[in-house]
Amino acid sequence: MSKTWYPVIDYERCTECGVCIEKCKNGVYDLMKVPKPVVIIPENCIHGCHGCGNLCPTEAISYVGNQRENSGFCGCSCGNEDGGCC
Ligand code: SF4
Ligand code: SF4
Repeated sequence: MSKTWYPVIDYERCTECGVCIEKCKNGVYDLMKVPKPVVIIPENCIHGCHGCGNLCPTEAISYVGNQRENSGFCGCSCGNEDGGCC
């Protein structure tokens, strides 16, 4: 758990499909706001996880703390450098 890594939603791109909220099992998103993704507990986000962002059909999710956003490397410890680990 880390405050230095959590999703940020681009509401200009988001279509409120709800996929990201369904994906996350860590309580990061506010379930009372479904299907609008609202980050309520960023501390619960797992550092390096791209689970919700990988599923977003409109690429509306970026991550605070992602230093290698454009490199394709997800930054977690799985060793998969194509960013497809989660
Ligand atoms: S990055 Fe992972 S832990 Fe964080 S909100 Fe998305 S699915 Fe949940
Ligand atoms: S998956 Fe993407 S488009 Fe769908 S609700 Fe989440 S941020 Fe919005």
